[in-house]
Amino acid sequence: MKEYLNKDLYEILGITPEADEGQIKSAYRKMARKYHPDVNNNTAESIQKFKEITQAYEILLDVSKRREYDILRGYTRRKADSTETARTRAKKAYSNTETTEPPKTGAGESSFSKVFNTILDGLFQHEQTVKQKSKPKQTAKKQKPENGRNINLSVSIKISEAINGTTRTVNVLHTEKCPKCEGRRFINGAKCPMCKGSGEISIHKRLNVKIPAGVKKGARIRIANEGDKGYYGGKNGDLFLTVDIEEDTLFKYDGLNVMCEIPVTPYEAALGANIDVPSVNGSISMKIPPLTTSGQKFRISGQGIKDEKKNTAGDQIVTVKIEMPKELSAKEKELYEELKKYSTQKIRENLK
Ligand SMILES: [Zn+2]
Repeated sequence: MKEYLNKDLYEILGITPEADEGQIKSAYRKMARKYHPDVNNNTAESIQKFKEITQAYEILLDVSKRREYDILRGYTRRKADSTETARTRAKKAYSNTETTEPPKTGAGESSFSKVFNTILDGLFQHEQTVKQKSKPKQTAKKQKPENGRNINLSVSIKISEAINGTTRTVNVLHTEKCPKCEGRRFINGAKCPMCKGSGEISIHKRLNVKIPAGVKKGARIRIANEGDKGYYGGKNGDLFLTVDIEEDTLFKYDGLNVMCEIPVTPYEAALGANIDVPSVNGSISMKIPPLTTSGQKFRISGQGIKDEKKNTAGDQIVTVKIEMPKELSAKEKELYEELKKYSTQKIRENLK
């Protein structure tokens, strides 16, 4: 049994059964302004009252529900009730609903305002958005278009991906108006079962995003229409991806060339060696000749970043740095002593 059939919905909104859609809306606006929980310190009473007028509004605005209600209540034949009886009946109706659970409020931003902004055609809008000042007055029939919010995400890519372009799968969390209650949170006075009274639902969406070749650090890629949904003819928001290019502690970049510094031991430098060197394409082997000096540069051709479009690649430039051990073992010390004895090098001779 529909509980609202016991209520005089017209009396609740302070209108007569002849009221048209425009009158219903304007009556609701007036009542809502007065009883909105936000302007009544969120008292249980105001919440209850607000629920009631909202329910009355929703039913009377629904043409088929209103027709059914009118028939069952006998409003089709009888014109307006006398105010006296209507009031008595309305009172009874209020007491009938006292046991229903009042809606929860008070958590963070008032979701009441959020939800009812839509219904009230911006009645409370000045409290939240200061922007829309000079918009033309809405007609009672049309909901104000609501643009969806933009969503901002960031994505981190490697330098080689920045040069060649890449794709990323991003997880986007959308907040949408609950499709069942259309953001009203309550259906016929009961908590919407779909959104559990929050008026919103969250939707995860996985998107494959193409990041173009040559993208720069901090670039914002706009993916149109992938923000939050717009309502009543409002545009969907966009998704913005801010590109971050991963810094590398080992490699520095110059165009397609990759630079790095590689430590070698004194004996490797003296005798020459094959050493393993990391590159952007994995580990590679590099030969250093005997008598390599600290700071000497070696070019490894084609081991820089590949530009797939141009079918070319940069080089890797390795700067060798001779590094001393932190300490010497007794044996090493002994061998250096030996080396000293046999060394013919007169390194500071030309300084005089
Ligand atoms: Zn809902």
